[in-house]
Amino acid sequence: MTEVRNPATGEVVAEVAGTSAGEVDAAIGRAAGAFERWRAVAPGERARLLRRFASVVDAHLEELARLEVRNSGHTIGNARWEAGNVRDVLDYYAGAPERLTGRQIPVPGGLDVTFHEPLGVVGVIVPWNFPMPIAAWGFAPALAAGNTVVLKPAELTPLTALRLAELACEAGLPEDVFTVLPGAGSVVGERFVTHPAVRKICFTGSTEVGTRIMAGCAAQVKRVTLELGGKSANLVFADADLERAAATAPYAVFDNAGQDCCARSRILVQRPVYDRFLELLEPAVRALRVEDPARETAEMGPLISAGQRDRVAGYVDGARVAYTGSCPTGPGWWYPPTVLLAEAPTERHWQEEIFGPVVSVLPFDDEADAVRLANDTEYGLSGSIWTRDVGRAVRVARAVESGNLSVNSHSSVRYWTPFGGMKRSGLGRELGPDALHAFTDVKNVFIATES
Ligand code: NAD
Repeated sequence: MTEVRNPATGEVVAEVAGTSAGEVDAAIGRAAGAFERWRAVAPGERARLLRRFASVVDAHLEELARLEVRNSGHTIGNARWEAGNVRDVLDYYAGAPERLTGRQIPVPGGLDVTFHEPLGVVGVIVPWNFPMPIAAWGFAPALAAGNTVVLKPAELTPLTALRLAELACEAGLPEDVFTVLPGAGSVVGERFVTHPAVRKICFTGSTEVGTRIMAGCAAQVKRVTLELGGKSANLVFADADLERAAATAPYAVFDNAGQDCCARSRILVQRPVYDRFLELLEPAVRALRVEDPARETAEMGPLISAGQRDRVAGYVDGARVAYTGSCPTGPGWWYPPTVLLAEAPTERHWQEEIFGPVVSVLPFDDEADAVRLANDTEYGLSGSIWTRDVGRAVRVARAVESGNLSVNSHSSVRYWTPFGGMKRSGLGRELGPDALHAFTDVKNVFIATES
């Protein structure tokens, strides 16, 4: 049994039994059996079931959101968005089964057609930072394409995934089509990787574990999608709307207490406006409402665990702190929003993913310098560019090695558009129109027409 705690209070909110290796094997076996039936369900019927799943999620939105607040310490506003995102992603991919068309390719001597065949059982492995959306980005397109899914939530945050599995049943998804298996990464997650009936792994988590999973998948040439770490840059040029850039920068990194793979945790500011930007940033950081995440006014909650808080504090010790915001004292795993001044790009807090409410600021000289510093990282997930010069915005967006960039905004995730990382931030793309194809293999069939 694993105790699940409320990060805002430290209190135990549930106890969840971990799935044993034998139970995982049995569940994968059942999912493999269900695959043959699920793939045969007519596309229109599969679409209807996914739409029904979306509407059952919608009917339980508030319940799911409150469960996430208790389990993960997310602010209620964020948690409602997250549950709504599950509904939207299901609705979006519910449109797919009826549109999963292949091609007819002109060839001599016959008819050539392609099919997007489902893979079989897909293993989805989810981290603790966004338990609901990240689960849905895997299971919704996988199911739509005709696969069955076994899903492992993170040890710390299994509750909403378990509830989603119940809601899938309520919506009428056939048995064993979508199975949630809580437990340890070293037991459940590793079995997904090694079990031959699991034909694809869709992993989100740390670069370290993702690298091992990719190596494990290689043994069976198992398909894999990886969404890994990040250390994204927020580039502020001297010609930008500085007030807006400074007012929004805290939300781009402190949202979800900085436990966001897309966090813009490195702010690069052009030297002539560096001091002014820091002046404007200070009141925005101090005004951030860090409080009980169940309150409607909360803008930031606690960190996920005591261990995570200690890890984050370790990056701040000995670093040059510009200023901090506030946070509650007492029980729970709180840490205040913190702004660090980087003296050089070699500093540890500038280089490594902190995954907490800590942002580092560094000045740059010109466009080439900005691009060089932004790319001086093993990661490449997201980033923002603040400038009024359209040409520069396009040049810099093309030059920064990241999968998701936004200009004069901090948007990263929109379910209509592809999401994923370059370099060691990942492999493959989720969401958007193409994610579906990552859960299928193309089959080519030639039919001779000559007698
Ligand atoms: P983690 O890598 O420790 O764990 C992620 C999941 O993998 C958990 O469910 C865990 O139980 C499982 N796992 C652990 N060891 C395993 C193994 N040997 N085999 C199979 N599964 C195993 O990551 P975390 O600490 O939960 O999450 C934080 C990390 O996730 C950060 O680095 C963050 O950047 C990254 N992240 C990336 C994205 C993205 O989309 N790129 C999104 C969210 C989080």
